[in-house]
Amino acid sequence: MVLERTGSLGGEPVAVADAAGRVLAEAVTSDDTVPGFDNSAMDGYAVRAADTAAASGESPVALTLIGESQAGHPADEAIGPGEAIAISTGAMKPDGADAVVRVEDTDGARQGQVSIQVAVEPGRDLRHAGDDIVAGDLVLDRGAELGPVEIGVLASIGRAKVVCARRPQVAVLTTGDELQEPGSPLRPGGIRNSNAHSLSALVAAAGGEVAFTEIVADTPEATEAALARALTTDLTVISGGVSVGPHDHVKPALETLGAEQVFWGVALRPGKPTWFGLAPRRQGLRPGRGLVFGLPGNPVSAVVTFLLFVRPAIKAMLGSDVGAPQRTTAILDERYAKLPGRAHLVRCALELKEDGWHVLTTGAQSSHVLTSLLGADALAIIPTECGDVAAGERVEIELLPR
Ligand code: AMP
Ligand code: MG
Repeated sequence: MVLERTGSLGGEPVAVADAAGRVLAEAVTSDDTVPGFDNSAMDGYAVRAADTAAASGESPVALTLIGESQAGHPADEAIGPGEAIAISTGAMKPDGADAVVRVEDTDGARQGQVSIQVAVEPGRDLRHAGDDIVAGDLVLDRGAELGPVEIGVLASIGRAKVVCARRPQVAVLTTGDELQEPGSPLRPGGIRNSNAHSLSALVAAAGGEVAFTEIVADTPEATEAALARALTTDLTVISGGVSVGPHDHVKPALETLGAEQVFWGVALRPGKPTWFGLAPRRQGLRPGRGLVFGLPGNPVSAVVTFLLFVRPAIKAMLGSDVGAPQRTTAILDERYAKLPGRAHLVRCALELKEDGWHVLTTGAQSSHVLTSLLGADALAIIPTECGDVAAGERVEIELLPR
């Protein structure tokens, strides 16, 4: 339901030097052939293989050294019969040469000659133009996430700029009169605003940009005013105040502002009161933007529902291939008590044993125990209709992003 309402945001030129972590919004074909020329794989001597046919340790063959091809400084000479050119790794193969003899297989050069101690076949220790990329090749497709290797490949074909997906601008609102930022002593009844920080980091890790964060007081007016500011962004995440308590103002505020509810209430634990909808169209937002997520306030619930619902939306806005979540199964090594009615998302640590992957819960699973996510590698997904799970049963798991 989220992805059906999510659209990509288009592209912008980005310097390759700044593009790590971004997503490509263009298909990149190479103008260059890489390597651009035949070159040596070793330090040694460029030769005509036929000239070495009779060479061995006992009866070396002497070739006349007529020049040098250094990396970045090709030789001017072409090799004729009985001749060799000293060559470095990566240096251009001289005309006439069809193999390289490694330095170790010679006695080194003296007095304009090199003594070759092995016979080499044509092509030995040569690398060829286009081994890596041929001009016109599709190198990286639209939607590719640019990590260190992709950045290196772009540089290798001489690209200085690429078109990357525009990053969704995300408003991160946290509701609650109890919230206090780190750095000041806690008031009686105060708690630290961990969600503002975990959610902002999650936005950045998913490829979005935090447009602004705001702590919202538990009044209808403050909630409406903050949401009105937030709904002009590409995506709003608001935590807490989305349930049915007397001080939960998010749902009515969104309704007053004309946001369209798509769903509220998910048969999940944690994550039950999750709200998803769209900013009002009258704000001139194009379709696929103005997504609004009301996440539960409990810190674990906020992180888990972000990962399940918001992260895929950000990825889709970036044009990444979201696809189905990557799930597999593992053996749960402890009993897990559960009532049917909601699917449970259990924070688990993975361990590889002789018979495959096993999981253990990370301890207390209450949604206010944020440390239960420390050391969690995966969420075990215990289906809605399922009751207690016995130790040793196989469960479905979804890997958590690092
Ligand atoms: P709520 O959904 O507003 O009823 O909040 C549920 C629980 O989550 C309460 O215990 C809140 O104190 C806690 N909570 C709400 N927002 C945050 C936040 N930003 N950081 C940490 N805990 C929060
Ligand atoms: Mg609250």
